[in-house]
Amino acid sequence: MIKAAVMPAPGRAVEIREFPEPELEPGSALFKTIYSEVCGTDIHVQDGKLSLTPYPLIPGHANVGILEAIEGDLKDVEGNPLGAGQVVTFFDVHKTCNNCWYCLVAKAPTRCPNRKVYGITYGAEEGLLGGWSEVVYLKPGVRVLRLPEGVEPLTFIAGGCALPTAFHAMERGDMRLGDTVAVQGAGPVGLMCLAFAQMAGASKTIILGNGAPRLKAARDFGADVVIDIDGLSPKDRVEAVLGATGGRGADLTVEATGAPQAIIEGMEMTRDAGRYVVVGQYTDLGDVLINPHRLINRKHLEVRGCWGIEFGHLYKSVQLLPRLAARFPLAQMVTRTYSLTEANEALADVRAQRVVKAAIAPNGPVEIG
Ligand SMILES: [Zn+2]
Ligand SMILES: [Zn+2]
Repeated sequence: MIKAAVMPAPGRAVEIREFPEPELEPGSALFKTIYSEVCGTDIHVQDGKLSLTPYPLIPGHANVGILEAIEGDLKDVEGNPLGAGQVVTFFDVHKTCNNCWYCLVAKAPTRCPNRKVYGITYGAEEGLLGGWSEVVYLKPGVRVLRLPEGVEPLTFIAGGCALPTAFHAMERGDMRLGDTVAVQGAGPVGLMCLAFAQMAGASKTIILGNGAPRLKAARDFGADVVIDIDGLSPKDRVEAVLGATGGRGADLTVEATGAPQAIIEGMEMTRDAGRYVVVGQYTDLGDVLINPHRLINRKHLEVRGCWGIEFGHLYKSVQLLPRLAARFPLAQMVTRTYSLTEANEALADVRAQRVVKAAIAPNGPVEIG
């Protein structure tokens, strides 16, 4: 039997359940989990804030582990064969259909209505389809990729789902060499945006956040200006960014907070004719009232949403991991690892922001061959 941590219903604690070993169909594989992330999304799933989430479910959408068994031929996107014993991650999104209006006409595959996501839109009744489990069943068609040479599993999970999410947000932001970049939020997505902005040649990076562990991480990640939002009024926060950007505001601002009211501040702290990317509002946490004349029309502001990721975002950001890890203290972001039975503790620590990042190690320490 295989042990997994299950969210039985919204508002309920996680419990450990046992599942039979899955039978492999052609093109599928078994993945022995080394680390699975505990992400802000898992808090929202526990709170019942995400539509389309079936309960009970096994959470865990960003994972690293070892390929255990493969049925048939499994190849990576470059055509290289994948084999048992390799350290890999997999793209949590699959079944993007390449056949619907959004995929083919709008060319917006993250809005494909057919896509399914491990740990979020699959229920536990459909199988071992989340990473808070000793073993994950990789269905046929799931994209598997090896970690680059020298990249430790802990380094990968430190980036976790924030790694491709931030990559996508920066792509949406069209960052240009020499831009000033402001990031709202110093959680994992904000910190990864901060790292990518520096790699992409920002002339100045500004990050707004709170909580000692996150502010320390922001400084360790090399932000030029770190603004502690606690004790500052929204107006003072905006003033602080204007003060750091010659009174104009940032060329590019990325929202990574999850707080609807941050949107107004974000628009205000972006320069006229600048770009504003909203990536942190993954769940519906309510409405805000904005002045469209002042903040959008007259400001000539470009506002862009950023939903989900495509395989290319995961692929490219994983290729960047060796360079990221050489320049930023990535692995330090994982404040603590938890066993499966400590999953509730992990959720509570993420909820209270006592940790920058929590990772679950369902099998304990795993020997890598
Ligand atoms: Zn996530
Ligand atoms: Zn589609």
